[in-house]
Amino acid sequence: TDIALDHALSTATHIAMYLQGQDESHQRDLTLIRDLPDALQNGQFYVVYQPKVDISKRQCHSAEALIRWQHPQLGFIPPDQFIALAEHAGNIGLITEWMLQQVLCQTALWWQQGMQVQIAVNLSVHDLLNPALTDNICSLLNQYQLPAAALALEVTESAIMQDADTVVRQLSQLRALGINLAIDDFGTGQSSLAYLKQLPVHEVKIDRAFIKDIENNANDALIVAATTQLAHSLGFSVTAEGLENRAGLPKLLHCGCDKVQGYYFAKPLQADNFSQWLLQFSTDNQSWFTAESIA
Ligand code: C2E
Ligand code: MG
Ligand code: MG
Ligand code: MG
Repeated sequence: TDIALDHALSTATHIAMYLQGQDESHQRDLTLIRDLPDALQNGQFYVVYQPKVDISKRQCHSAEALIRWQHPQLGFIPPDQFIALAEHAGNIGLITEWMLQQVLCQTALWWQQGMQVQIAVNLSVHDLLNPALTDNICSLLNQYQLPAAALALEVTESAIMQDADTVVRQLSQLRALGINLAIDDFGTGQSSLAYLKQLPVHEVKIDRAFIKDIENNANDALIVAATTQLAHSLGFSVTAEGLENRAGLPKLLHCGCDKVQGYYFAKPLQADNFSQWLLQFSTDNQSWFTAESIA
């Protein structure tokens, strides 16, 4: 009976610990949701920019903008911990509004300095269901005197699937303005390129899952090659996400990918570091493409 009692006690302790763990992470989520609106006003968020390199031309004219949150008590919070949460809580719109404002303001400064970059902002399905989105973006572009070509938007397949008709209508309006549209994380959702063909988008971003080990995994290389070929024949440009190693670059060139975004070229950088990186890259980018990497 002692053993039975021990077992019962230990099980109860485990359940209690589990519940407490649940409770703590729930509490943390509630804190994040509560703090988010003020945090946006109080300078706790900032934007980082990750280059998207055209690997055949060896040029870089675009980047993805990614949000960062430095919380005064909880420290650094990665977007994976608050984006989905904000979507559920219904205040992702605040984040998107803030991002568009920040990114277009910064991009306007770059264009004034002669640096004509195209910056991509991530949208959630909530944004695409907001009928005012296109008008809001249009007025921001006017406010900052930027051409639509300065902006790109990224949407995941799963976001589109949630309400395809409404989303397609909104994407068509954005496309008509001249904004570059990309499908993000391609290959992880349910949709096929045949389905994507019906969408008014320009670019397919192949998910990091297929890229990160491409130099070792022959199946990944086949998938990326076939996806790129089909995407091209359907009229999409292709970006490979998440290249970390030099050894993967020849594979991606061989697959025919147009652009590459990944730690190999650069991690996401704060605005000043990004413009320095770009200057450096445009002056001398040979080291990224040396003979040993194009073996
Ligand atoms: P995403 O849009 O697919 O962005 C690419 C993510 O991959 C970024 O993570 C980037 O830092 C990471 N990444 C890029 N290259 C590499 C690499 O070589 N290795 C590895 N391990 N990772 C790489 P991040 O910034 O943590 O963002 C995660 C996700 O959070 C994004 O995925 C996007 O879905 C979402 N997100 C970030 N910022 C925003 C935003 O402003 N709005 C919305 N709605 N979502 C955002
Ligand atoms: Mg993205
Ligand atoms: Mg992605
Ligand atoms: Mg992602």
